[in-house]
Amino acid sequence: MALVNEHFLKLQNSYLFSDIAKKVNSFKVTHPKDKIIRMGIGDVTQPLAPAVIEAMHKAVDELAHKESFHGYGPEQGYPFLIDAIIKNDYESLGVFIEPSEVFISDGAKSDCGNIGDMLRHDNSIGVTDPVYPVYIDSNVMAGRTGICIDGKWTDVVYIPCTAENNFVPQLPSRKVDIIYLCYPNNPTGTTLTKEELKKWVDYALENDAIIMYDSAYEAYIRDKNVPHSIYEIKGAKKVAIEFRSFSKTAGFTGVRCGYTIVPKELNAYTLSGDPVSLNKLWLRRQCTKFNGTSYITQRGAEAIYTPEGKAQVRATIDYYMKNASIMKEGLEQCGLKVYGGTNAPYLWVKTPDGLTSWKFFEKLLYEVYIVGTPGVGFGPSGEGYLRLTAFGDRDETIEAIGRIKQWMK
Ligand code: PLP
Repeated sequence: MALVNEHFLKLQNSYLFSDIAKKVNSFKVTHPKDKIIRMGIGDVTQPLAPAVIEAMHKAVDELAHKESFHGYGPEQGYPFLIDAIIKNDYESLGVFIEPSEVFISDGAKSDCGNIGDMLRHDNSIGVTDPVYPVYIDSNVMAGRTGICIDGKWTDVVYIPCTAENNFVPQLPSRKVDIIYLCYPNNPTGTTLTKEELKKWVDYALENDAIIMYDSAYEAYIRDKNVPHSIYEIKGAKKVAIEFRSFSKTAGFTGVRCGYTIVPKELNAYTLSGDPVSLNKLWLRRQCTKFNGTSYITQRGAEAIYTPEGKAQVRATIDYYMKNASIMKEGLEQCGLKVYGGTNAPYLWVKTPDGLTSWKFFEKLLYEVYIVGTPGVGFGPSGEGYLRLTAFGDRDETIEAIGRIKQWMK
């Protein structure tokens, strides 16, 4: 008899986006003429950069001829992209990364979700709360979270990030072995300074813990004192794995490409206390379960690092960040308390008059036809907040903020 991994049965159905879709669809049926503006989705709306398109077309043409055809590539990624990443994303920060520490993938979601394959099921995990749901759900599947009671997993250490602590997570009082940090943060749009992040690196060094550092939104950072990489902090290569994505940096949500840095200095331990290099294990894992990101995609990603590519990608990021500033300014003029939006494409809005996340969501939908995402969907500490994204079209963004201003007068 084939037995199922019963941890999968503990997964809570992700009602968040389907509940939102249901409410929006029933609103559309009853209000067919009213134009809905969607500010809830985390997907991008602007097309790929021309430099990327050109590189991908060229790569397709190469595959059309026997002499330049590419079949299976290296599982870890092509050296041309790995070199461009090291030079542009790390050398520019004064961080030394070796080619064998870079693993090209089909995006940060797969890597964040799969990385736990290398770690025992009985490690304790800590997550900032609210949080990108993949960190929790992938650990539910691995049996690390206990059971879910009233929206909280019994074996997960939740580290609240709310206005009360200025969205700066405090070190946990209970020891954790694996810590998930995401900065700039989805959903709150907030960041940590180098000093704040250093506390976590020091904690991990002292406790032989590992930090899973998701910096999928690093391209949106504007402030000088906000680190782009955890490896800007001394000692981090001994304790941190970093996940990066081209999805929000360069509109690759549909193309699919990202990468993960697993430093050679990083060890996990056997029960008898012997160190094991996670870099070697991750290579073994990837070579077994992953056959590489397509050549065409990697050529497209490489083009992001050309002078034209950089300028084009920057222009799109600036476009989204202009949306974010229009949203933030407009919402603040309405008297709303708004967090994030200055180093990230997410705005985290405190609901007015003590409304719950869902109540505020419904009022925005039914009264001004705007769709956000209820903060409570990202974890217990998200209650009383709503997430808005800046990935929309400019004219729609302006229209949405105009509607809210009119409504809140
Ligand atoms: N990490 C965070 C924090 C995200 O918000 C997202 C996407 O929304 C991802 C990772 C997934 O990125 P990718 O498209 O590279 O899988």
